Amino acid sequence: MPLQPPAQDRLRVSEIFYSLQGESRTVGWPTVFIRLTGCPLRCLYCDTRYAFQGGKWLSMADILAQTAAFYPHYITVTGGEPLAQKNCLYLLQSLCDAEYAVSLETSGALDIAAVDSRVSIVMDLKTPSSGEESKNRYLNVGELKQSDQIKFVLGTRADYDWACLKLDEYALAQVCEVLFSPVQGALSATDLANWILADHLPVRMQVQLHKLLWGDEKGR
Ligand code: SF4
Repeated sequence: MPLQPPAQDRLRVSEIFYSLQGESRTVGWPTVFIRLTGCPLRCLYCDTRYAFQGGKWLSMADILAQTAAFYPHYITVTGGEPLAQKNCLYLLQSLCDAEYAVSLETSGALDIAAVDSRVSIVMDLKTPSSGEESKNRYLNVGELKQSDQIKFVLGTRADYDWACLKLDEYALAQVCEVLFSPVQGALSATDLANWILADHLPVRMQVQLHKLLWGDEKGR
């Protein structure tokens, strides 16, 4: 059932910017990123700490207008943890109603059940080296659809072995596409590629395109 407009029609936004999608199935596509402020997690490798606080309150209409100004086809709602703000659900619905191709990047710690079914969800399962493994909400796996993706960000060989166990335990490759991604500067992409090949894993390996292109520059 469609959500009704919220009484408080606003969201706290860290930035809205246009770039190439650096990860996931839509990698390389020009995309507008709407980065919502705030996250209840503190992953050790987090590269968007600046989005934990600050930002600006924007009305839904402002967010939609700023997004439309880039004439995008793809929109990614990210964070922080976007679902930490309740109005994120209504924003996602509004973006889908405007006929954008919408994806949501989420930590996997919060309930995804109410996310609009037109949204492509890219959901992390936090690995041990993130320091936030205990926050994984495994009930979410049952809410994913085939067009969604599960992402493991791997910092060590122990993370890789752990991810292989989760792949088996929850038959994740049958749920949706599974992404394995190395933490830049912590795990060699070449080593990860070799492990995946040696183990014949049904996963897609990815490196972060935006970091190859622009390094850690904020806003890309
Ligand atoms: S969930 Fe994402 S934004 Fe939050 S701390 Fe972890 S990496 Fe950073």
